[in-house]
Amino acid sequence: MNTINNIKNSGYFTFPIGTLQVFVFTDGESVIENIQPMFAPNINPSDIENFLSQHFLSPDKLTLAGNVLAIKTADKTILIDAGCGQKLGPNSGKLVENLISAGIQPENITDIVLTHAHPDHIGGIVNADDSLAFPNAKIYLSKTEYDFWTAEIPDFSKGTQDAVADFEIQFAKHHLSLIDSDIEFYKDEAELFGFLKLENAPGHTPGHTVITISSAGEELVHIADTFQHIILVEHPEWGNQIDSDFEQAVKTRKEVLEKLASTKQLLFGDHLPFPGLGFIEKNENSYRFIPKAFYTL
Ligand SMILES: [Zn+2]
Repeated sequence: MNTINNIKNSGYFTFPIGTLQVFVFTDGESVIENIQPMFAPNINPSDIENFLSQHFLSPDKLTLAGNVLAIKTADKTILIDAGCGQKLGPNSGKLVENLISAGIQPENITDIVLTHAHPDHIGGIVNADDSLAFPNAKIYLSKTEYDFWTAEIPDFSKGTQDAVADFEIQFAKHHLSLIDSDIEFYKDEAELFGFLKLENAPGHTPGHTVITISSAGEELVHIADTFQHIILVEHPEWGNQIDSDFEQAVKTRKEVLEKLASTKQLLFGDHLPFPGLGFIEKNENSYRFIPKAFYTL
């Protein structure tokens, strides 16, 4: 066996935002072997290949990180999203083991704020046997998001053609039913705990939410899945079939990019290269992701 595979890394990165201790845990990764039609469904394949080669990335697949943000205060340990859990294959579902390696036991998680109800964000709320993975956590979810997935027939009419919609719908309905009595709903614009500002950023899903974390004059913007890969930072209009409303997602993506470029705020993305932290730079009419530099663990 390759010795590199035997090395167990710490599985997390931690840094302060004001008085808050913030962690990024890796839940694993997912590899998209067929880039199209999931990403950039209407774009000439050679444009995608050129983009990837210019960025020193593999020409025939996209790798998405599975980053999960956590915040520790004196009396709370809060997860923002819960990762994939144990039902989406062996390359994901590593959140719990990495929480434990950081000294955080699952029963000590006090709150989970869900940005949206896709499988890779809610799967980890339960163990493989559907028992609650974080038994003492209160769970927060957008009412708009809950109503979308629990409708008899969720409305995907504004998506392009989502091959995995049926899987997502069944997954969401099942997992939301398991936590139904633990959910506290938040509105499209809301504040939690005095340091989280929640704003609806629709398109990826109707209740998809961007969260600004503020403490002692410092800020971090959790963009969730507004752009899952740098390809959608530089080409926000290329789009993603996973988005339940393709055009609305393009509009939201451009608005969030424009705001991040003008405010120069630090951002965190669930699927950007680990630890998912960086900035948006604007050059004339295009945007670029600049990873935040770190010099020590
Ligand atoms: Zn996601």
